[in-house]
Amino acid sequence: MIPIAKPIIGDEEKKAVLDVLSSGIIAQGPRVKEFEQAFSEFIGTEFSIAVNSGTAALHIALLAHGIGPGDEVITTPFTFIATSNPILFTGAKPVFADIDEETFNINPDKIQEKITNKTKALLPVHLYGHPADMKAIQEVAEDHRLLIIEDACQAHGAEFNGKRVGSFGTGCFSFYPTKNMTTSEGGMITMNNKGIAKKARMLREHGSRERYVHEILGFNLRMTDISAAIGLCQLKKLPEFNQRRIENAKYLTELIRNERIITPKVRENCKHVFHQYTIRVMDDRDKIADTLNEKGIGTGIYYPIPIHKQKLYKDLGYNESLPVSEKLANDVISLPIHPSITRENLEYISSVLNGL
Ligand SMILES: *Cc1c(COP(=O)(O)O)cnc(C)c1O
Repeated sequence: MIPIAKPIIGDEEKKAVLDVLSSGIIAQGPRVKEFEQAFSEFIGTEFSIAVNSGTAALHIALLAHGIGPGDEVITTPFTFIATSNPILFTGAKPVFADIDEETFNINPDKIQEKITNKTKALLPVHLYGHPADMKAIQEVAEDHRLLIIEDACQAHGAEFNGKRVGSFGTGCFSFYPTKNMTTSEGGMITMNNKGIAKKARMLREHGSRERYVHEILGFNLRMTDISAAIGLCQLKKLPEFNQRRIENAKYLTELIRNERIITPKVRENCKHVFHQYTIRVMDDRDKIADTLNEKGIGTGIYYPIPIHKQKLYKDLGYNESLPVSEKLANDVISLPIHPSITRENLEYISSVLNGL
């Protein structure tokens, strides 16, 4: 089976983890600090705060910006549930704006329609590694004085107009094993605002800046030095990992010749880092995915149910129709293009697709 995702852990990561284990400092320590600094440098922000998941990054980012009961946050319904559940955890209301059919990302025109006097923030997702339309999103945010929190959990190194995602507002990253880089579990919040950085650090740490002095209600959402040591090695390799994803995607697009398949597009001024290579098929997606699996090709359906159609959200009273998201949820199939995929793998995948 050609797997849909595969973390690449080398000797460097293994040695780095053993060094941490031997050091005796195995929870949050000097490696976490080093990883935060290296990540800030990479993204181009002044501050980075490491946490134990992408979900935690989103939760802390929202709380650090003071979002809570009575507030609305506009986001996309076509994403992993971890994008919107942290909004619920703060007591605020997720409001869903439909997506662009070509990029799968939130449609800025649809954001406009959802703004009310309760709207506090926009939470775009750079889905599959393709940056959301940050120019239009920033314009809407400026017009209505809204915060921007980016879900960049699938987009480490992606760029919009030459600027890395995660540096437009407060950025949230995940280092789960299937992402473009990993720390096993892990996450990062990036920002340029010193006050938000300070608050986020306290929220990670039981609301304290000084040990055993607690100023606000916080959590324990710390990253360990074991994870950070892996992250430091992975961050060095990320540019090469991304380059291989981009080349694999380009080659696969060249090879696919089937009129019933729409291959992914890359918008001008965007660097897409291909966390996923997601095609659209015109008919019977599930049968096509089964056929691919039978022929040894791993596939992913990201995501089969838009968030507003999930039971959790229906039980909360969501019952609107967001037609583009609902349609694409039936059409999408993601194919393996991660860095371990070979040209032969891609030729095989395309030959199966072209024979459908
Ligand atoms: C992976 C992911 C998350 C959550 O990250 P975890 O580290 O799994 O908590 C959030 N949003 C998106 C879009 C993701 O892909």
